[in-house]
Amino acid sequence: MKKKKIALIPGDGIGPEVISEGVKVLKAIEQVDANLSFEFTEYPWGCEYYLEHGKMMDENGLDQLKDTDAIYLGAVGYPGVPDHISLWDLLLKIRKGFDQYVNLRPVTLLNPSLTPLKNKTEKEIDFLVIRENSEGEYAGAGDWLFKGKPEEVVLQTGVFSRKGTERIIRYAFEEARKQKKTLTSISKANALNYSMVFWDEVFDEVGKEYPDVVTYSYLVDAASMFFVQQPERFEIVVTSNLFGDILTDIGAAITGGMGLATGANINPEREFPSMFEPVHGSAPDISGKGLANPIAAIWSVAQMMEFFGEEKWSELIVTTIKELLEENEHLTPDLGGNATTEELGNQFIKLLTGQD
Ligand code: ATP
Ligand code: MG
Repeated sequence: MKKKKIALIPGDGIGPEVISEGVKVLKAIEQVDANLSFEFTEYPWGCEYYLEHGKMMDENGLDQLKDTDAIYLGAVGYPGVPDHISLWDLLLKIRKGFDQYVNLRPVTLLNPSLTPLKNKTEKEIDFLVIRENSEGEYAGAGDWLFKGKPEEVVLQTGVFSRKGTERIIRYAFEEARKQKKTLTSISKANALNYSMVFWDEVFDEVGKEYPDVVTYSYLVDAASMFFVQQPERFEIVVTSNLFGDILTDIGAAITGGMGLATGANINPEREFPSMFEPVHGSAPDISGKGLANPIAAIWSVAQMMEFFGEEKWSELIVTTIKELLEENEHLTPDLGGNATTEELGNQFIKLLTGQD
Protein backbone atom coordinates (compact mmCIF):
# COMPACT_ATOMS: atom_id res chain seq x y z
CA MET A 1 0.00 0.00 0.00
CA LYS A 2 1.45 3.35 -1.04
CA LYS A 3 0.50 6.22 1.21
CA LYS A 4 1.00 9.66 -0.28
CA LYS A 5 0.96 12.85 1.73
CA ILE A 6 -0.71 15.67 -0.17
CA ALA A 7 -0.64 19.30 0.92
CA LEU A 8 -3.71 21.22 -0.19
CA ILE A 9 -3.43 24.96 -0.76
CA PRO A 10 -6.83 25.87 -2.23
CA GLY A 11 -5.99 29.59 -2.13
CA ASP A 12 -8.33 32.34 -3.30
CA GLY A 13 -11.31 32.96 -5.55
CA ILE A 14 -12.19 29.92 -7.61
CA GLY A 15 -9.13 28.06 -6.25
CA PRO A 16 -11.05 26.31 -3.43
CA GLU A 17 -14.00 25.59 -5.76
CA VAL A 18 -11.93 23.71 -8.31
CA ILE A 19 -9.57 22.06 -5.81
CA SER A 20 -12.47 20.47 -3.97
CA GLU A 21 -13.50 18.74 -7.22
CA GLY A 22 -9.92 17.51 -7.67
CA VAL A 23 -9.89 16.19 -4.11
CA LYS A 24 -13.07 14.26 -4.88
CA VAL A 25 -11.18 12.60 -7.73
CA LEU A 26 -8.31 11.67 -5.40
CA LYS A 27 -10.77 10.25 -2.87
CA ALA A 28 -12.47 8.23 -5.60
CA ILE A 29 -9.12 6.80 -6.69
CA GLU A 30 -8.31 5.85 -3.13
CA GLN A 31 -11.68 4.08 -2.87
CA VAL A 32 -11.15 2.02 -5.99
CA ASP A 33 -7.41 1.33 -5.78
CA ALA A 34 -6.48 -0.82 -2.81
CA ASN A 35 -2.79 0.03 -3.31
CA LEU A 36 -3.12 3.76 -2.95
CA SER A 37 -4.10 6.04 -0.14
CA PHE A 38 -3.80 9.75 0.41
CA GLU A 39 -3.33 11.80 3.53
CA PHE A 40 -4.45 15.40 3.08
CA THR A 41 -3.32 18.41 5.04
CA GLU A 42 -4.97 21.70 4.19
CA TYR A 43 -3.25 25.06 4.48
CA PRO A 44 -5.31 28.27 4.61
CA TRP A 45 -2.67 30.34 2.82
CA GLY A 46 -3.37 32.95 0.18
CA CYS A 47 -4.55 36.52 -0.09
CA GLU A 48 -7.26 36.34 2.57
CA TYR A 49 -4.60 35.02 4.92
CA TYR A 50 -2.41 37.92 3.84
CA LEU A 51 -5.08 40.51 4.62
CA GLU A 52 -5.45 39.02 8.10
CA HIS A 53 -1.84 38.13 8.93
CA GLY A 54 0.22 40.37 6.65
CA LYS A 55 1.83 37.39 4.93
CA MET A 56 0.74 34.97 2.21
CA MET A 57 1.98 31.90 4.09
CA ASP A 58 3.63 31.08 7.41
CA GLU A 59 7.29 31.99 7.75
CA ASN A 60 8.16 28.34 8.23
CA GLY A 61 5.71 27.40 5.48
CA LEU A 62 8.27 25.57 3.39
CA ASP A 63 9.25 23.52 6.46
CA GLN A 64 5.63 22.55 6.94
CA LEU A 65 5.40 21.39 3.34
CA LYS A 66 8.76 19.74 2.85
CA ASP A 67 7.85 16.20 3.90
CA THR A 68 4.81 15.93 1.67
CA ASP A 69 4.78 13.95 -1.59
CA ALA A 70 2.93 16.61 -3.56
CA ILE A 71 1.41 20.05 -3.21
CA TYR A 72 -1.97 20.63 -4.82
CA LEU A 73 -2.52 24.36 -5.34
CA GLY A 74 -5.67 26.17 -6.47
CA ALA A 75 -4.93 29.79 -7.27
CA VAL A 76 -3.78 32.88 -5.45
CA GLY A 77 -4.79 36.44 -6.18
CA TYR A 78 -7.31 38.88 -4.80
CA PRO A 79 -8.45 42.35 -5.74
CA GLY A 80 -6.54 44.72 -3.47
CA VAL A 81 -3.49 42.52 -3.00
CA PRO A 82 -0.84 43.42 -5.57
CA ASP A 83 -0.09 40.53 -7.95
CA HIS A 84 3.63 40.69 -7.24
CA ILE A 85 2.98 40.01 -3.54
CA SER A 86 0.70 37.03 -4.14
CA LEU A 87 3.05 35.69 -6.76
CA TRP A 88 6.39 36.19 -5.01
CA ASP A 89 5.33 35.39 -1.47
CA LEU A 90 3.65 32.12 -2.21
CA LEU A 91 3.81 30.65 -5.69
CA LEU A 92 7.37 31.66 -6.51
CA LYS A 93 8.50 31.06 -2.94
CA ILE A 94 7.40 27.43 -3.23
CA ARG A 95 8.67 26.98 -6.80
CA LYS A 96 12.07 28.41 -5.89
CA GLY A 97 12.29 27.05 -2.35
CA PHE A 98 11.67 23.51 -3.56
CA ASP A 99 13.73 23.94 -6.71
CA GLN A 100 10.82 23.01 -8.96
CA TYR A 101 12.78 23.91 -12.02
CA VAL A 102 10.68 22.00 -14.53
CA ASN A 103 7.27 23.29 -15.53
CA LEU A 104 5.28 20.75 -17.54
CA ARG A 105 2.37 22.09 -19.53
CA PRO A 106 0.55 19.78 -21.91
CA VAL A 107 -0.93 21.41 -25.00
CA THR A 108 -3.35 18.65 -25.86
CA LEU A 109 -6.65 19.07 -27.60
CA LEU A 110 -9.12 16.82 -25.80
CA ASN A 111 -12.07 17.46 -28.09
CA PRO A 112 -12.15 18.98 -31.60
CA SER A 113 -14.94 21.39 -30.61
CA LEU A 114 -12.60 23.16 -28.16
CA THR A 115 -10.14 24.69 -30.58
CA PRO A 116 -10.72 27.97 -32.38
CA LEU A 117 -8.38 26.71 -35.12
CA LYS A 118 -10.03 25.54 -38.30
CA ASN A 119 -9.65 21.90 -39.30
CA LYS A 120 -7.30 20.95 -36.49
CA THR A 121 -7.85 17.60 -34.85
CA GLU A 122 -6.72 16.02 -31.58
CA LYS A 123 -3.90 14.39 -33.53
CA GLU A 124 -2.55 17.73 -34.69
CA ILE A 125 -2.62 19.52 -31.35
CA ASP A 126 -0.87 17.24 -28.94
CA PHE A 127 2.42 18.32 -27.46
CA LEU A 128 4.18 19.03 -24.19
CA VAL A 129 5.85 22.31 -23.29
CA ILE A 130 8.74 22.00 -20.85
CA ARG A 131 9.33 25.44 -19.43
CA GLU A 132 12.38 26.45 -17.42
CA ASN A 133 10.89 27.39 -14.07
CA SER A 134 13.65 28.71 -11.85
CA GLU A 135 15.61 31.52 -13.48
CA GLY A 136 15.76 33.37 -16.81
CA GLU A 137 13.79 36.58 -16.97
CA TYR A 138 11.91 35.71 -13.77
CA ALA A 139 15.00 35.55 -11.58
CA GLY A 140 14.08 38.87 -10.00
CA ALA A 141 17.39 40.44 -10.96
CA GLY A 142 17.59 44.02 -12.10
CA ASP A 143 17.92 47.61 -11.08
CA TRP A 144 15.94 50.84 -11.08
CA LEU A 145 18.23 53.80 -11.52
CA PHE A 146 17.57 57.54 -11.27
CA LYS A 147 13.96 56.92 -10.28
CA GLY A 148 11.72 59.78 -11.37
CA LYS A 149 14.58 61.62 -13.09
CA PRO A 150 14.78 62.29 -16.81
CA GLU A 151 17.68 59.82 -17.07
CA GLU A 152 15.67 57.05 -15.40
CA VAL A 153 16.73 53.55 -16.51
CA VAL A 154 15.22 50.22 -15.55
CA LEU A 155 17.05 46.94 -16.00
CA GLN A 156 15.45 43.50 -15.87
CA THR A 157 18.14 40.91 -16.21
CA GLY A 158 17.65 37.44 -17.59
CA VAL A 159 19.73 35.01 -15.57
CA PHE A 160 20.85 31.87 -17.41
CA SER A 161 23.30 29.78 -15.42
CA ARG A 162 25.15 26.83 -16.90
CA LYS A 163 23.56 24.60 -14.28
CA GLY A 164 20.05 25.97 -14.76
CA THR A 165 20.13 25.86 -18.55
CA GLU A 166 21.77 22.48 -18.83
CA ARG A 167 19.45 20.72 -16.42
CA ILE A 168 16.21 21.83 -18.11
CA ILE A 169 17.54 20.98 -21.56
CA ARG A 170 18.79 17.62 -20.34
CA TYR A 171 15.42 16.92 -18.75
CA ALA A 172 13.75 17.67 -22.09
CA PHE A 173 16.12 15.39 -24.02
CA GLU A 174 15.52 12.57 -21.53
CA GLU A 175 11.77 13.02 -21.93
CA ALA A 176 12.04 13.08 -25.74
CA ARG A 177 14.14 9.91 -25.69
CA LYS A 178 11.78 8.15 -23.29
CA GLN A 179 8.70 9.10 -25.29
CA LYS A 180 10.44 8.64 -28.69
CA LYS A 181 9.41 12.14 -29.75
CA THR A 182 11.01 15.09 -31.50
CA LEU A 183 12.36 17.95 -29.40
CA THR A 184 12.02 21.61 -30.34
CA SER A 185 14.00 24.33 -28.60
CA ILE A 186 12.48 27.81 -28.71
CA SER A 187 14.77 30.79 -28.18
CA LYS A 188 15.67 34.15 -29.69
CA ALA A 189 19.40 34.30 -30.35
CA ASN A 190 19.17 36.94 -33.07
CA ALA A 191 17.99 39.59 -30.61
CA LEU A 192 19.02 38.34 -27.17
CA ASN A 193 22.67 38.16 -28.00
CA TYR A 194 23.93 36.80 -24.69
CA SER A 195 21.30 34.65 -23.03
CA MET A 196 19.78 33.00 -26.07
CA VAL A 197 23.09 32.46 -27.84
CA PHE A 198 24.13 30.60 -24.70
CA TRP A 199 20.82 28.69 -24.60
CA ASP A 200 21.28 27.54 -28.21
CA GLU A 201 24.87 26.48 -27.52
CA VAL A 202 23.86 24.41 -24.52
CA PHE A 203 21.03 22.86 -26.54
CA ASP A 204 23.49 21.80 -29.26
CA GLU A 205 26.04 20.55 -26.73
CA VAL A 206 23.62 18.43 -24.73
CA GLY A 207 22.01 17.27 -27.97
CA LYS A 208 25.26 15.53 -28.96
CA GLU A 209 24.61 13.05 -26.18
CA TYR A 210 21.21 12.22 -27.67
CA PRO A 211 21.85 11.40 -31.34
CA ASP A 212 18.63 9.34 -31.36
CA VAL A 213 16.49 12.45 -30.68
CA VAL A 214 15.41 14.52 -33.70
CA THR A 215 15.68 18.21 -32.84
CA TYR A 216 14.42 21.53 -34.18
CA SER A 217 15.24 25.08 -33.15
CA TYR A 218 12.88 28.00 -33.69
CA LEU A 219 12.88 31.68 -32.86
CA VAL A 220 10.08 32.50 -30.45
CA ASP A 221 8.31 34.80 -32.91
CA ALA A 222 8.19 32.11 -35.57
CA ALA A 223 7.21 29.51 -32.98
CA SER A 224 4.26 31.68 -31.84
CA MET A 225 2.98 31.63 -35.40
CA PHE A 226 3.47 27.88 -35.72
CA PHE A 227 1.60 27.29 -32.44
CA VAL A 228 -1.45 28.71 -34.21
CA GLN A 229 -0.91 27.74 -37.84
CA GLN A 230 0.90 24.42 -37.63
CA PRO A 231 0.78 23.04 -34.09
CA GLU A 232 1.37 19.59 -35.59
CA ARG A 233 5.04 20.56 -35.88
CA PHE A 234 5.53 20.10 -32.14
CA GLU A 235 5.91 17.03 -29.96
CA ILE A 236 8.07 18.16 -27.06
CA VAL A 237 9.10 21.78 -26.66
CA VAL A 238 11.75 23.18 -24.32
CA THR A 239 11.99 26.90 -23.66
CA SER A 240 12.89 29.62 -21.17
CA ASN A 241 10.77 30.88 -18.30
CA LEU A 242 9.35 33.97 -20.04
CA PHE A 243 8.81 32.40 -23.45
CA GLY A 244 7.27 29.34 -21.81
CA ASP A 245 4.86 31.50 -19.85
CA ILE A 246 3.63 33.30 -22.94
CA LEU A 247 3.65 30.33 -25.31
CA THR A 248 1.64 28.16 -22.94
CA ASP A 249 -1.12 30.77 -22.86
CA ILE A 250 -1.27 30.42 -26.65
CA GLY A 251 -1.28 26.69 -25.98
CA ALA A 252 -4.26 27.13 -23.64
CA ALA A 253 -6.06 29.27 -26.19
CA ILE A 254 -5.81 26.65 -28.94
CA THR A 255 -6.99 23.83 -26.68
CA GLY A 256 -10.06 25.29 -25.00
CA GLY A 257 -9.03 28.15 -22.75
CA MET A 258 -7.96 28.70 -19.17
CA GLY A 259 -10.50 26.30 -17.70
CA LEU A 260 -8.59 23.40 -19.24
CA ALA A 261 -4.92 24.32 -18.85
CA THR A 262 -2.85 22.43 -16.31
CA GLY A 263 0.72 22.78 -15.11
CA ALA A 264 3.08 20.74 -12.98
CA ASN A 265 6.06 22.25 -11.16
CA ILE A 266 8.51 19.43 -10.81
CA ASN A 267 11.62 18.85 -8.74
CA PRO A 268 12.89 15.87 -10.76
CA GLU A 269 15.41 14.77 -8.13
CA ARG A 270 12.50 14.38 -5.69
CA GLU A 271 14.58 16.02 -3.01
CA PHE A 272 11.62 18.35 -2.42
CA PRO A 273 7.90 18.05 -3.14
CA SER A 274 6.54 18.94 -6.56
CA MET A 275 3.46 21.10 -7.07
CA PHE A 276 0.42 20.59 -9.28
CA GLU A 277 -1.94 23.40 -10.22
CA PRO A 278 -4.44 24.61 -12.77
CA VAL A 279 -2.76 27.38 -14.77
CA HIS A 280 -5.64 29.82 -14.35
CA GLY A 281 -5.82 32.45 -11.64
CA SER A 282 -8.37 33.12 -8.91
CA ALA A 283 -10.83 34.66 -11.41
CA PRO A 284 -12.65 36.94 -8.94
CA ASP A 285 -15.20 37.81 -11.64
CA ILE A 286 -16.74 34.34 -11.47
CA SER A 287 -15.86 33.14 -7.97
CA GLY A 288 -18.55 32.02 -5.55
CA LYS A 289 -21.05 31.42 -8.33
CA GLY A 290 -20.38 27.81 -9.25
CA LEU A 291 -19.26 28.89 -12.71
CA ALA A 292 -15.63 27.76 -12.55
CA ASN A 293 -14.55 24.92 -14.80
CA PRO A 294 -12.76 22.31 -12.64
CA ILE A 295 -11.27 20.37 -15.59
CA ALA A 296 -7.86 22.06 -15.35
CA ALA A 297 -7.71 21.19 -11.65
CA ILE A 298 -8.78 17.60 -12.37
CA TRP A 299 -6.14 17.32 -15.11
CA SER A 300 -3.58 18.45 -12.50
CA VAL A 301 -4.51 15.35 -10.53
CA ALA A 302 -3.65 13.31 -13.64
CA GLN A 303 -0.24 14.98 -13.74
CA MET A 304 0.21 14.20 -10.05
CA MET A 305 -0.64 10.53 -10.65
CA GLU A 306 1.87 10.38 -13.48
CA PHE A 307 4.51 11.85 -11.18
CA PHE A 308 3.65 9.17 -8.60
CA GLY A 309 4.25 6.53 -11.29
CA GLU A 310 0.53 5.74 -11.45
CA GLU A 311 0.25 6.08 -15.23
CA LYS A 312 -2.85 3.92 -15.30
CA TRP A 313 -4.70 6.57 -13.29
CA SER A 314 -3.30 9.54 -15.16
CA GLU A 315 -4.38 8.00 -18.46
CA LEU A 316 -7.79 7.10 -17.10
CA ILE A 317 -8.37 10.65 -15.83
CA VAL A 318 -7.52 12.13 -19.23
CA THR A 319 -9.71 9.58 -21.06
CA THR A 320 -12.55 10.36 -18.68
CA ILE A 321 -12.22 14.11 -19.32
CA LYS A 322 -12.48 13.31 -23.04
CA GLU A 323 -15.58 11.21 -22.37
CA LEU A 324 -17.17 14.02 -20.38
CA LEU A 325 -16.47 16.51 -23.17
CA GLU A 326 -17.79 14.10 -25.77
CA GLU A 327 -20.98 13.60 -23.79
CA ASN A 328 -21.42 17.39 -23.81
CA GLU A 329 -24.13 17.43 -21.16
CA HIS A 330 -22.50 18.44 -17.90
CA LEU A 331 -20.21 21.26 -18.93
CA THR A 332 -19.66 24.65 -17.32
CA PRO A 333 -20.62 27.93 -19.07
CA ASP A 334 -17.09 28.60 -20.41
CA LEU A 335 -17.59 25.41 -22.46
CA GLY A 336 -21.06 26.42 -23.57
CA GLY A 337 -22.93 24.34 -20.98
CA ASN A 338 -24.98 25.25 -17.94
CA ALA A 339 -23.66 22.86 -15.31
CA THR A 340 -22.10 24.11 -12.09
CA THR A 341 -18.54 23.35 -10.99
CA GLU A 342 -19.89 20.69 -8.66
CA GLU A 343 -22.23 19.12 -11.23
CA LEU A 344 -19.36 18.75 -13.68
CA GLY A 345 -17.21 17.25 -10.90
CA ASN A 346 -19.94 14.79 -9.89
CA GLN A 347 -20.44 13.64 -13.46
CA PHE A 348 -16.70 13.17 -13.79
CA ILE A 349 -16.64 10.89 -10.73
CA LYS A 350 -19.58 8.95 -12.12
CA LEU A 351 -17.78 8.34 -15.40
CA LEU A 352 -14.48 7.57 -13.67
CA THR A 353 -15.85 5.02 -11.26
CA GLY A 354 -18.79 3.82 -13.30
CA GLN A 355 -20.96 4.40 -10.25
CA ASP A 356 -23.85 6.68 -9.39
P1 ATP B 1 -5.41 36.11 -10.98
O1 ATP B 1 -5.34 37.55 -10.64
O2 ATP B 1 -5.42 35.23 -9.80
O3 ATP B 1 -4.45 35.71 -12.06
P2 ATP B 1 -7.37 36.27 -13.04
O4 ATP B 1 -8.71 36.86 -12.96
O5 ATP B 1 -6.30 37.00 -13.77
O6 ATP B 1 -6.88 35.90 -11.59
P3 ATP B 1 -7.06 34.20 -14.97
O7 ATP B 1 -6.73 32.82 -14.68
O8 ATP B 1 -6.05 35.03 -15.61
O9 ATP B 1 -7.60 34.83 -13.64
O10 ATP B 1 -8.39 34.14 -15.83
C1 ATP B 1 -8.85 35.17 -16.65
C2 ATP B 1 -10.33 34.96 -16.84
O11 ATP B 1 -10.61 33.69 -17.44
C3 ATP B 1 -11.09 34.94 -15.54
O12 ATP B 1 -11.39 36.22 -15.11
C4 ATP B 1 -12.28 34.08 -15.84
O13 ATP B 1 -13.32 34.86 -16.40
C5 ATP B 1 -11.75 33.10 -16.88
N1 ATP B 1 -11.38 31.83 -16.21
C6 ATP B 1 -10.20 31.51 -15.65
N2 ATP B 1 -10.21 30.27 -15.13
C7 ATP B 1 -11.44 29.78 -15.35
C8 ATP B 1 -12.09 28.53 -15.05
N3 ATP B 1 -11.48 27.55 -14.38
N4 ATP B 1 -13.37 28.39 -15.43
C9 ATP B 1 -14.00 29.34 -16.11
N5 ATP B 1 -13.47 30.52 -16.42
C10 ATP B 1 -12.19 30.76 -16.06
MG1 MG C 1 -4.15 36.54 -14.08
